[in-house]
Amino acid sequence: MNDKKLIIAETNTSQWNYHLREIKPGEERYSGGAGNSLCGRSLGWDTHIPLSSWGLKGNVPSSYCKKCREIATQKGYLVGGENETDQQKISK
Ligand SMILES: [Zn+2]
Repeated sequence: MNDKKLIIAETNTSQWNYHLREIKPGEERYSGGAGNSLCGRSLGWDTHIPLSSWGLKGNVPSSYCKKCREIATQKGYLVGGENETDQQKISK
């Protein structure tokens, strides 16, 4: 059984660059030391942003890693954002 889950994490820069990483429950690193993203980037810390909010633009200039989402989708995760059909399946 796959007990891992996906979490949205930020790179350690002044920008809001979001990537995804796969963790086991309890491995969240909200204050730093978040390891590497699915696409291989070095991360700063995890966020509390729900996966269903992936791709949403807020009032800050944020970017979401396409490669991470692709890899996550291949692994069978449903990530919100670019595919409305998938999104509706998870939230409703
Ligand atoms: Zn990435």
